[in-house]
Amino acid sequence: MIIIMKDDATEEQIKNVEHVLRDFGFKTHPIVGEAKSVIGAIGDKRQLSMNQITTLKGVESVVPIMRPYKLASKELKKTPSVIEVGHGVTVGGDQLAVFAGPCAIESQEQFTEVSRLCKEAGANILRGGAFKPRSSPYSFQGLAGDGLKIMYNSGHELKMPICTEVLDTRDVELVANFADIMQIGARNMQNFQLLKEVGKCNKPILLKRGLASTMEEWLMAAEYIMSEGNEKVILCERGIRTYETATRNTFDISAIPIAKELTHLPIIGDPSHASGTYKYVPAIAKAAIAAGADGLMIEVHNCPEKAASDGAQSLKPEKFSSLMKELDPIAKAVGRKLL
Ligand code: PEP
Ligand code: MN
Repeated sequence: MIIIMKDDATEEQIKNVEHVLRDFGFKTHPIVGEAKSVIGAIGDKRQLSMNQITTLKGVESVVPIMRPYKLASKELKKTPSVIEVGHGVTVGGDQLAVFAGPCAIESQEQFTEVSRLCKEAGANILRGGAFKPRSSPYSFQGLAGDGLKIMYNSGHELKMPICTEVLDTRDVELVANFADIMQIGARNMQNFQLLKEVGKCNKPILLKRGLASTMEEWLMAAEYIMSEGNEKVILCERGIRTYETATRNTFDISAIPIAKELTHLPIIGDPSHASGTYKYVPAIAKAAIAAGADGLMIEVHNCPEKAASDGAQSLKPEKFSSLMKELDPIAKAVGRKLL
């Protein structure tokens, strides 16, 4: 439920309401706004009646949160969340976030080169996989710890935040030591143990949409992370499974405006994993920005033919650079900044 405090409620009154709620076993999330303060309270409502709270000093009203996800819900927090991801970069504000880099980190030379070109083209966050969730156990599985070090070196040198996937609860601490943003991949969107574990970290989480997940399942996955105390969740639409085989997945463009309606969390689009083919990436990227996405994740490789994974969907650096230029006027048209 949401406790809406009166305009003139004092800090002490807010603290007292939180105190009473916690005594009843609720977790509280105060949100102090310019005009009004509200307190989100998550817990078992059978323990106390709304009237008990309404009568407390400073309380204006109490309203239930109707959606199954609470902390992620726009009912609780109306203003869009802007998430700081390091090196002065934010996701969710006027400036669009562009995550770019290879699918997998293959060597220091490869990653240094492609990262430098991504930065020159205007990307503000580096991406790359050190732990790769491959469909075949015989495919390249990533450089693991060595990959994290390579990525860290490039991020440090270029002063850019780095985003990399964590596959396993046992690696969360290790990945958190190197990454600025931890990615939960599509295949792990409902790995609830992993969601809880990253929820205990104080690092932004990029939560990809599951291969065949509904918006509600996706937001419930975000809720798992947030309910552990980590509210820095960024959603990523990366295409869903449909009957269509012309593309690797089907980019669900409607996920963007729907997410904007249901949640305050930022959402970015990943046209690379959605299409599976580099030539469709620019059109989908443009559509995502036009639809209101807060950014993009794009796979870029200096030599896609030789990429250890996802080469077919990776843009060459020159193509990525032209795409960024083409995206600029679209970003401006929807009131955002890109370059
Ligand atoms: C990736 O980002 O390289 C990846 C494996 O993504 P997804 O989980 O969306 O397939
Ligand atoms: Mn990939």
